[in-house]
Amino acid sequence: MKLDFKEIATAWFNTIVHTDEQKKLADKRLEVCFSCPKKLEIINGTNWMLKCGACGCPLKAKVYTKKTFLDKNGSCPLSKWKEIESEYLIQTGKIQNPKNNKTIL
Ligand code: SF4
Repeated sequence: MKLDFKEIATAWFNTIVHTDEQKKLADKRLEVCFSCPKKLEIINGTNWMLKCGACGCPLKAKVYTKKTFLDKNGSCPLSKWKEIESEYLIQTGKIQNPKNNKTIL
């Protein structure tokens, strides 16, 4: 996998500077990671030192990535964040709620 240094730097920056919506999304993503078998503890018994075993990224910053499942290479390598990212994208007006699409059929 090719490293995207701009994305990595932005994610770390966003751990400090973020909107309430970004914080809520990050917290929800991290909840998913807590129950994921790919979650690795760098130091045993420390939730603040977690990394993703699928991509190797530190989860503290990864959960703040601006990428979502809609982007090339996505965000979670196993697409486990798709449902909560969909809710976030609908709430922030970045995508339409498919339930609001009215069709004749
Ligand atoms: S980013 Fe995805 S694959 Fe990695 S630990 Fe979190 S849920 Fe699991």
